[in-house]
Amino acid sequence: MALERTFGIIKPDAVKNGNTGEILTMIQKDGFRIVGMKMRRLSKHEAEAFYAVHKERPFYSGLVTFMTEGPVVVLALEREGAIAKWRELMGATNPANAAEGTIRKKFAENIERNSVHGSDAPETAAQEIPFFFSSSELL
Ligand code: UDP
Ligand code: MG
Repeated sequence: MALERTFGIIKPDAVKNGNTGEILTMIQKDGFRIVGMKMRRLSKHEAEAFYAVHKERPFYSGLVTFMTEGPVVVLALEREGAIAKWRELMGATNPANAAEGTIRKKFAENIERNSVHGSDAPETAAQEIPFFFSSSELL
């Protein structure tokens, strides 16, 4: 497996519920190196642009409202096979379908308020990391 970088977000539900530390521990115990991390409150404009791929979906406006309701933690993560491994650790989008041991199984409230975001492919990771991090913030 090649060394890769992926992008993640600890979403407003998880930050508000005090799960940031436990999620970061799960990430580090799974062998990721945190190469970028900051707490942010997304603007409506940023959330709309970040999720633009979903703009025709019925859940888009609710998703933008949710993602802007409170602070998030944005992450750049590195390990072998980071993109697939981070999706695996996150679990299925709908926590009802998420496997035991995954972040969404443990913390997600429902299909919208599902605690974490992760890039789904090399192309999206390559767009999403620079959306939030300048090269000098990747360490
Ligand atoms: N989402 C939602 N309702 C749905 C599907 C998705 O509210 O029926 C939200 C949810 O927060 C999800 C995000 O939109 O994480 C992006 O959806 P996607 O299908 O890309 O899921 P992900 O890649 O996050 O697993
Ligand atoms: Mg997605």
